[in-house]
Amino acid sequence: MTDTMTPEQRHRCMSHIKGSGTKPELKVRQWLWSHGYRYRLNVKSVPGKPDIVLRPYRTAIFVNGCFWHGHGVRPPAAQIENSKLKIENSPCCKIPQTNRSFWLDKIRRNQERDQRNYALLQDNGWLVIVVWECQLKPDKIERTMREVELALNNNLLSLYKHKPLPYSTEEDEPLPQAAEEATPLQRRP
Ligand SMILES: [Zn+2]
Repeated sequence: MTDTMTPEQRHRCMSHIKGSGTKPELKVRQWLWSHGYRYRLNVKSVPGKPDIVLRPYRTAIFVNGCFWHGHGVRPPAAQIENSKLKIENSPCCKIPQTNRSFWLDKIRRNQERDQRNYALLQDNGWLVIVVWECQLKPDKIERTMREVELALNNNLLSLYKHKPLPYSTEEDEPLPQAAEEATPLQRRP
């Protein structure tokens, strides 16, 4: 593929995806951007400083690495310290046998911090979407992101539904028709 952009064009084009993003986070951002969604990154004023914030949708997206955030490690890592079986059942978070208690503790603390952040956001009326690294593989990303998109749009609709209507119209209340009555019928083509 030939790159026909000048360095300046390339910089402008890529500037929306600069920052501290990890590779999985970049994939999510690129998908959203190319489908017309605009977002902000690591917004400090939003609880938990989510990776991606879509304010009009009141939605925060966290893109989690499977290992560091303990994907599939249930119950939380600390409770399964002596149960190798359950940990090995998670195909994308394999806790090392060496320094095992160190890793279990680290992942447990990450999980606890995640849960605190999600709860804080939800208590403030935010939709929290967690996208896992393993859901962004080439054969999975499209389906994953379509589900994210559906959740975003459902949330937007529910936000509108809960807004009070500007005025109420009773069924027996005559609607204003002055403009209609001023139009003579016979002038219609
Ligand atoms: Zn995973």
